[in-house]
Amino acid sequence: MTEVCLRHQSVAGIHQLAVYESVGGYATWRALLAGKIKPEYILQELKRSQLRGRGGAGFLTSMKWQFMNRGTPGDKFLICNSDEGEPGTFKDTLIMKHNPHQLIEGIAICSYVIGASRAYNYIRGEYLQEYHQVERALYEAKEAGLLGANILGSGFNLCIENLLGAGSYIVGEETAMMESIEGKRAMPRNKPPFPAVSGLYGCPTTINNTETLASVPMIVSKGGDWFKSLGVENSGGTKIFCVSGHVVNPGTFELPMGVPMQNLIDLCGGVRHNRRIKAVIPGGTSMRVIPGHTIPEVTMDYDGLARVNSAVGSGGMIVMDETTSMPMALMHMMHFYHQESCGQCTPCREGSGWISQALKQLVKGDGSVALVDEIYQVASSIEGRTICAFGEAITWPVTSFIDHFREEFDRTAELGVKGRPGFEWSIT
Ligand code: SF4
Repeated sequence: MTEVCLRHQSVAGIHQLAVYESVGGYATWRALLAGKIKPEYILQELKRSQLRGRGGAGFLTSMKWQFMNRGTPGDKFLICNSDEGEPGTFKDTLIMKHNPHQLIEGIAICSYVIGASRAYNYIRGEYLQEYHQVERALYEAKEAGLLGANILGSGFNLCIENLLGAGSYIVGEETAMMESIEGKRAMPRNKPPFPAVSGLYGCPTTINNTETLASVPMIVSKGGDWFKSLGVENSGGTKIFCVSGHVVNPGTFELPMGVPMQNLIDLCGGVRHNRRIKAVIPGGTSMRVIPGHTIPEVTMDYDGLARVNSAVGSGGMIVMDETTSMPMALMHMMHFYHQESCGQCTPCREGSGWISQALKQLVKGDGSVALVDEIYQVASSIEGRTICAFGEAITWPVTSFIDHFREEFDRTAELGVKGRPGFEWSIT
C-alpha cells in the first residue's frame, strides 16, 4: 500500500470518525496528548521522512516547524493552505472530501509541536462541498473530545476553524493569506520578517499545504524511514499528481516520488487520438514547460524535474499534444496571471498586462520577430524584482515557452493562428 493521503481509495467510509479510528486514526494524536510521544520525536521523524512542502515551494517541512519556538510565550498560529488555486491542480479537494480526519489529525499534531492553540484551514472559495465535509469532521472530532479545551485532560487547548476564500489566486501566497484572515485585501507582504517570526496578527505562524499536513499522521505512525523509502533520494514519500490536458482519462494519482513521467501518462490511457505529445507543464502553470521529446528521461521528483529545468511545483501536470498552439496557450496563461496580479509591484502589474496584450497581438498575426524578443526581455526582467514569487510565475512560463518553441513563436508573429478552434473568443 503506497497511498498516504488518498488511502480513502482502499478504505470505504474513511471520512467518518469511527472508520478513521478503526484504521488507527487519531492514535498519534492521542499518544502525543498522553505524553507517550514527544514533539522532538515527531520533528525527528519528519526530518527522516524528507517530507517537503507539497503546495509548490518544496521547503523541508521539519525545518519549517523547527523555526517555531514552542517555548516562546504568546500566541502562535498554524494555517493550513487549502486554497489550491494553481491552474492544473486538484488534489487537496480529494483529501478534504474523502479523508478530512487525516487532515485534521495532521493539523492537530503540527499545532501541538509548534505550540499553537489556534489553527485555520483556509479553503478555496469554490470548494463548498469540501468546506462542509471538513466542517462535519471537525464537529465529530470536537464531539469526541479530540479538539477544544483541555483535550483529553492533557491541558492542551486547540481550536481549528475553517475559512472560505473569495476566489483570489494570490491569496494562496502565505502572507497574502494572513492578510486575508486578518480581514484585509489579500496582498503579499514584504519579507523579512518571515511568518515564523511575525505572521498572523504579528505572531509566530507556520503555514503548510493540505497535502503536507495530511501526510503527517502516517509519517509519525509508520516512521520517517518508511515514508522516505517510498520515494527516491532527496524526494521522500509519495506525491499526489493531477494530470489534465490532452490525455484520454485525466485524473489524480498518488504515486511514489521518482515515478517516470511516461508512467503517469500511461495511467491516463495515453494521449487522445494517439497524437504526439508536444509539451508538458509538470507542476502547475507557474512552472517551466518541458518539450515532449524529453518525456522518456523525466522522473517526477525534485531532482528529476530540476534536470530538465522545471520543478514538481504543486503536482498539476498539463499535457499538450501536437495540435496545441504554444503562443495561444501562453496567451491564455498570461491573461490569467495579469487578472490575478495584486498590483502592488510595477514589474508584475505592468509587465503581466503588457505581455498579455503583446501575446494577443502575436496570436492575431500582428506581431514580429522583434516583438517575440521584446516579450522575452520584459518577462526576464520581472523575476527577482517583485515582493512575492508571482514574478517568477510570469517569467518562467514565458521564457521556457519561447526557449523551447521559438520557431513557432516567430512563425505565429507573422501568420497568426487564425483558423484554429476557439481563435475568435480567445483574443477578445
Ligand atoms: Fe502582487 Fe505581483 Fe507583487 Fe506578488 S509580485 S505582490 S502578485 S504585484
